[in-house]
Amino acid sequence: MNADDRRAALAEVRQASNCSHPIRIAGEMVNVTTGEVFRRGLTVACKDRRRAICPACSYLYKADAYIMAAAGLIGGKGIDESVLLHPRLFVTLTAPSFGVVHRITHGQQCHPHPRVAHCVHGHSLVCRLQHHPGDAVLGSPICPHCFDYEGAVRWNAHANRLWNELVTRLRRELGASQGLVRRELPHHFTLNYFKVAEFQLRGLVHFHVVLRVDGPGDPNNAPPLWATADLLTQVITHSVRLERLILETGDILTWGRQLHIAQVHEGLAAKRVAGYLAKYAVKTTDGSLELVRRFTSRQQVDDLRDPHQRRLALTAWDLGFTRHAHAFGYPGNLITKSRSYSTTFREMREERAAYMAPNNDLAVIPGTFLYDGRGYLHPKAQALAELFFAMDVELRKEAAQRKVSSEMNPSEDQSISQTETPGSPNPQQIQEK
Ligand SMILES: [Zn+2]
Ligand SMILES: [Zn+2]
Ligand SMILES: [Zn+2]
Repeated sequence: MNADDRRAALAEVRQASNCSHPIRIAGEMVNVTTGEVFRRGLTVACKDRRRAICPACSYLYKADAYIMAAAGLIGGKGIDESVLLHPRLFVTLTAPSFGVVHRITHGQQCHPHPRVAHCVHGHSLVCRLQHHPGDAVLGSPICPHCFDYEGAVRWNAHANRLWNELVTRLRRELGASQGLVRRELPHHFTLNYFKVAEFQLRGLVHFHVVLRVDGPGDPNNAPPLWATADLLTQVITHSVRLERLILETGDILTWGRQLHIAQVHEGLAAKRVAGYLAKYAVKTTDGSLELVRRFTSRQQVDDLRDPHQRRLALTAWDLGFTRHAHAFGYPGNLITKSRSYSTTFREMREERAAYMAPNNDLAVIPGTFLYDGRGYLHPKAQALAELFFAMDVELRKEAAQRKVSSEMNPSEDQSISQTETPGSPNPQQIQEK
């Protein structure tokens, strides 16, 4: 490659931020200094959050998710560090059982002693295997006829409604514990949350949530003294047990019995929580490519290899959730948060764009750009993007490790860890330094 050729390949990869499947667009640009308008093609990142589709873009998304989650726990991006003093819980909410499935039971057998030995279909309900991660049967029912597929898909389809009702109930119950009525609540406190949905192997979503009590109005206002993490724990335990959502079909939705609640205390624990949330945020339904995109026909669903997943997706399709059959009825989004939890994906993208293009004379003329194809134009660009991304990940990992070891020995490095922005072991900031 001659110098111009190399420059062209580099420029294209940089423009698309090392994306694995960039999108080409073409349209009009203006040189803001000279006023000259011309037509130009651009290769831009696909911005897909899913690791199975684009490792590079999902890495960036994960970093953004980390910053958003962490800022709401330890401060940053407009949230004061005093947020450390607000009551914060890390809660995992699950779906109820829709049938007995193969599971991992840490060194024990799957189902050695079921309450009844055989189901009504004559299947043995005993499984004496010790399953390991990656076992194909994990999450699939011991008797497929006993598994309530319709119930499972309906639960996924309405899980976000169940969540919204739970938030309303939590606010009300928290206020009621102090004798406050609904219209008084906004004058006393705000309940903020950050929630990520993750699929269990059995095909049901469950939610990982950070809950935080703030003062009225601004999230930086101190919460009332009565609003403790213990009170919040009591209220959520009680509310989750009580909640019932009655659907138009007459079905009743409840939460599963498994409920994990942990109080989030100091900085390290908070960063760990943010790390979990970011990790879940880039996962797909099952990590495979089969369930990454919407199905366009029932036949496509019927071609799924795994019988349990096929039944779930077919049930979703047949119940009318065709657009979300690949997610077994769950309509997304995977990340949702209350408005004043912390920053937004949009703000973070804008910040990055502003950082990436400080001395650029060229500006896009909005509305003139149209889709022009997929993939890099330059034949060497794809390999270059993969190489850059791999190097990037390596450098970020090393930097994060250095950061963790300096946190373990804070005396060595006090000045740095005190002056750095909270949440700094994230890849984004390392890149920006
Ligand atoms: Zn991409
Ligand atoms: Zn089993
Ligand atoms: Zn059965």
